[in-house]
Amino acid sequence: MAKSYPVIIIIEDDPPIRRFLRTSLATQGFSVFEAETGKQGMVEAGVRKPDLIILDLGLPDMDGVAVIKAIRAWSNVPIIILSARSSEQHKIDALDAGADDYLMKPFGFGELMARIRVALRHGSRLADNGDAEIFSVENLKVDLLNRLVWLDGEEVHLTPIQYRLLSVMVKHAGKVLTHRQILKEVWGPSYQDNAHYLRIYMSQLRQKLEAEPTQPKILLTESGVGYRLKI
Ligand code: CA
Repeated sequence: MAKSYPVIIIIEDDPPIRRFLRTSLATQGFSVFEAETGKQGMVEAGVRKPDLIILDLGLPDMDGVAVIKAIRAWSNVPIIILSARSSEQHKIDALDAGADDYLMKPFGFGELMARIRVALRHGSRLADNGDAEIFSVENLKVDLLNRLVWLDGEEVHLTPIQYRLLSVMVKHAGKVLTHRQILKEVWGPSYQDNAHYLRIYMSQLRQKLEAEPTQPKILLTESGVGYRLKI
């Protein structure tokens, strides 16, 4: 039987937050299932074949990062983290383990819906491999197929590494990427700790693409975590 509504699993031990999420997501047309523990959540993920998982990092039986790693062993389902912890390292660990995005508690429902839309779009994009489209935000246009970049209709010339950095950001537009993830995709796995490369090239890209490079509107900084391309 075909699935009529996108399925979301909420893995969260806090009953009021679970109830809030279940009610709000149901009104948006999602089919919602709940789990109170990491173990229960992994079982639900296997049984329900969800389109998206919302995961609290602080669970009673196990660390949320371990749940992400376990699910990633067999599934690419988008995972959005909810975290009460302000530790940047914990967010980075969760993202590096394969989570797609994060929200800090308390969060607004509008913000959550925006993240869900981005995550679901990435999930379906991976499936149909639709790279041919032209990406456009603010006054920037990027043609990934022909490797062309325009700003206000004028072609912008980028060096090969500047272009590769921009294309990685475009492929994950709207999603936060950690420094390690970007370094790995642009330079390769042995460069994951060379954060200064990234700082230099990101600053070069901003010089070329941002009206005010120190007040970026497109290539946004996620403080202490990484970068996000605006959508
Ligand atoms: Ca919790």
